Amino acid sequence: MIKFLDLKAINDQYRDELNHAMQNVLDSGWYIKGQSVKDFEYNFAKYCDVECCVGVANGLDALILIFKALIIQGKLKEGDEVIVPANTYIASILALTENNLKPILVEPDVSSFNLSIESIKSNMTSQTKAVLAVHLYGQSVEDVSDFCKDNNLLLIEDAAQAHGAENAQGKKTGSFGIAAGFSFYPGKNLGALGDAGAVTTNDKDLAGLISQLGNYGSEKKYHNSQQGVNSRLDELQAAILNVKLKYIDQEIVKRREAALYYQKHINNPKIQKPNWNIEVNNHVFHLYVIRCQQRDILQTYLQDKGIQTVIHYPIPPHQQKAYSDWNTLSFPKTEQIHKEVLSLPISPIITKEEQDQVIQALNAF
Ligand SMILES: *Cc1c(COP(=O)(O)O)cnc(C)c1O
Repeated sequence: MIKFLDLKAINDQYRDELNHAMQNVLDSGWYIKGQSVKDFEYNFAKYCDVECCVGVANGLDALILIFKALIIQGKLKEGDEVIVPANTYIASILALTENNLKPILVEPDVSSFNLSIESIKSNMTSQTKAVLAVHLYGQSVEDVSDFCKDNNLLLIEDAAQAHGAENAQGKKTGSFGIAAGFSFYPGKNLGALGDAGAVTTNDKDLAGLISQLGNYGSEKKYHNSQQGVNSRLDELQAAILNVKLKYIDQEIVKRREAALYYQKHINNPKIQKPNWNIEVNNHVFHLYVIRCQQRDILQTYLQDKGIQTVIHYPIPPHQQKAYSDWNTLSFPKTEQIHKEVLSLPISPIITKEEQDQVIQALNAF
């Protein structure tokens, strides 16, 4: 059986170091906002080439708190339009509707699954105040920052799937715009052993405000200047992330090697492979996503051969019950993507033998 993702085996690589890190937290006697969180915020900011990082409870909260803070700062107001790709994971959209912002769903560029300058241009109106760029599947969005600046649009990134990816100019995800949300959900490329997330930004005031908002709105214990929430990165997860961050770049190299191997050897006219710029580090392969018109048949066929795959995602946000007002909207490219995509097993520890089995099965389909 080839698992889609063997998280236990991935974490087992670092078992001794992780145990040691957890033991240190236990022994410290300090379990919230301690040294591990401080260290991780420093380390991750450095990793993303930004001034500030604020640990929060999960990736969705990271995005929700960014928009909440921008509204408090007066940079956005309720009802403002925010451009977001229609084919994203629902969390990107929830972060907007939670803040009473108006998502403007746009069709992605089908070759990258990401939004493009073109798609922003053709969908912006005088009410459009921001763009939420999602680096889907681990592939960096093209550099839309100059375009956003020139058009007075705030650029926010959903970098939950793309730790360490860079655009063609070498700019790290998390450093493109005013702020970015990251997730360290266990299955993400940088994964904790539970929920965790972070915001990165070069704006110290914004970072300070988000940090307060995630800690009951308090600047100082029991002095509350905002109506905040409780969304903190916990000490234990931060200690784990400090260990795993040391290895992310070597893991990205392995993911990219695995992706190139698939790319070279999968050869079946029924299967469409992903496109990316192999000259630069613009895709960190959180997911290796193929397209096939007979996707459901293909998935069952692979399952019968002992190969696990996952669909990211089966239903686009505008067709979800949660957004019933949008159910009559039509996004043909997005709907087609959701009918055809299939994510193959990929990880830093996938073996050539496992990949050969997947490739053989695909080529025989
Ligand atoms: C995982 C993910 C999130 C949410 O992260 P959580 O930590 O699960 O809350 C947001 N956006 C995208 C694109 C994601 O993949």
